[in-house]
Amino acid sequence: MYERILYPTDFSDEAVKAVDYIKELKGAGAQEVVILHVIDRRGLNDLSRFAKKDFAGILVDMEQKARGEIRPIEEELKGVGLKVKVRVEKGGPCDEILRVADEEKVSVIIAGSHGKSNIDSMLLGSVSYKLVKRVNIPILVVKK
Ligand code: ATP
Ligand code: MN
Repeated sequence: MYERILYPTDFSDEAVKAVDYIKELKGAGAQEVVILHVIDRRGLNDLSRFAKKDFAGILVDMEQKARGEIRPIEEELKGVGLKVKVRVEKGGPCDEILRVADEEKVSVIIAGSHGKSNIDSMLLGSVSYKLVKRVNIPILVVKK
């Protein structure tokens, strides 16, 4: 039921909270975790307008930075005996999360209820809201 987990993260405190729940699922049969960060297309569009010249370089930097932020999470999950695969994609976070979930044939998605914006008055952030609405496999949304 929990063999392959997709863990999408924006590196927010709320997403970090989900890691403890993933580790616990090792005991429930979890084998592999796909850690996914999506470089948000919305931010990229703004960036391309201001930074035409160095845009490609900035993208490479962003991807490297994301991989750097993923590394300690990867080590933490490997520490409890889980296999880890890392993916960094560019696009709309919800679309990419659903696409990767399908491509990687995961059995469950584990995400935070909020992310970097973290607006208290919202029950869910827009990414987690759309995910819950559109996903057709089980999803565990860790509340803050
Ligand atoms: P909003 O983005 O709507 O302003 P928010 O940032 O508070 O609100 P979400 O973006 O919905 O909340 O984040 C909820 C969860 O979705 C995060 O904890 C994380 O698991 C996942 N997530 C959000 N953005 C990304 C991303 N760019 N890449 C991977 N996972 C993401
Ligand atoms: Mn967000």
